Amino acid sequence: MLNFELYNPTNLIFGKGQMEKLSSLVPAGSKILLAYGGGSIFKNGIYDQVMTNLKGFEIVEFGGIEPNPHYETLMKAVEIIRAEKIDFILAVGGGSVIDGVKFISAAVHFEGNPMDILQKRLLIKENALPFGTVLTLPATGSEMNSGSVVTIKATEEKLAFGGSAMFPKFSICDPTVIVSLPKRQIQNGVVDAYTHVLEQYLTYPHNALLQDRFAEGILQTLVEVGPEVVENPADYTLASNFMWCCTMALNGLIQKGVPSDWATHMIGHELTALYGIDHARTLAIIGPNLYRVMFETKKGKLAQYGKRIFNLEGTEDEIAEKAIEATVAFFHKMGMQTKLSDYTEGYENTASFIVNRFDDRGWKGLGENQLVTLEKVKDIVEMSY
Ligand code: NAP
Ligand code: FE
Repeated sequence: MLNFELYNPTNLIFGKGQMEKLSSLVPAGSKILLAYGGGSIFKNGIYDQVMTNLKGFEIVEFGGIEPNPHYETLMKAVEIIRAEKIDFILAVGGGSVIDGVKFISAAVHFEGNPMDILQKRLLIKENALPFGTVLTLPATGSEMNSGSVVTIKATEEKLAFGGSAMFPKFSICDPTVIVSLPKRQIQNGVVDAYTHVLEQYLTYPHNALLQDRFAEGILQTLVEVGPEVVENPADYTLASNFMWCCTMALNGLIQKGVPSDWATHMIGHELTALYGIDHARTLAIIGPNLYRVMFETKKGKLAQYGKRIFNLEGTEDEIAEKAIEATVAFFHKMGMQTKLSDYTEGYENTASFIVNRFDDRGWKGLGENQLVTLEKVKDIVEMSY
């Protein structure tokens, strides 16, 4: 097992009716920026619940944070916070609103050009405006982690940043919010969370035995509840297990003491930036081809995964190969298409575009061993056409 520090200060409040605690979680006397997305919270009653539970607070609303939140939009909120002297932000939404609020929180007191936070991938450890979240879409784990992904529209770049000051102060996670989600978003949530686990699990064999069991527990649960929760989002057993899996997949716990990959995410972000493909769907396109190209370094864990999650049999190589196919079959069952050509035309130069971009950024080798070289990135993307 590798050495690690485990720090997670987010107060996670999970379950039905937990919104009632909202007013006691926001610091008394705060002037709040209520940040939300495209307006789903007005249709499903979540806005009303929030407002009912924030009576007595001074609130300024900021809507319109788009999926894959734009730097340009978020900077408008930064201006409002400075002008209105706001001292707390409440994010009400999915990963995009929460990630957007993390950036806003980091940018408000940032000295210098806030774009550097993204382009120089700065670690934000202090001077952040405090924020809490009301999660409306289980998927990203952003409600209990310190990472964020923001798109700069002007340059079509989708960039990640984070730091210890980027943990939400609290997150209210009520599984009943998923009832109003379109099927497509529930499918996305399952596949995003599933891939988060694979990024931290399908690396090379190590001896962090408990971490493997944690990871496998989440994978197994998502395989069981994923297809069903899409059809029955009002079933509380399904909804609550789905939501908790998503948080646990990326709140830092399963990442401790083990190597992690993240190359699928890094390549996937480019597909969203270029073609606007949903985040989870980019992962379903890239992940299986990354496992194929990196087969030699990953086959030990692929075989363990195949045995323990899908009960596959055969030699180690056979099980490892079948495990990739079983993953693709699971993604298909979750409504994903797994080829770039299923989503867009004019993709023929995608691989060389991405490779050039990574090269410009100095990203020569991705993954747990930095063995996903630019040549391999090219192979992975070309296999995904
Ligand atoms: P999202 O982009 O936040 O939301 C997708 C859509 O779902 C939006 O149109 C949103 O509408 C709608 N929606 C949300 N909750 C709803 C509800 N309860 N009922 C009906 N509609 C609802 O989706 P996401 O998958 O959670 O977030 C994706 C983003 O997170 C990507 O940018 C991805 O790169 C990033 N990400 C971050 C992390 C991390 O650790 N920080 C990890 C993985 C991915 P409204 O706009 O109207 O709310
Ligand atoms: Fe993700």
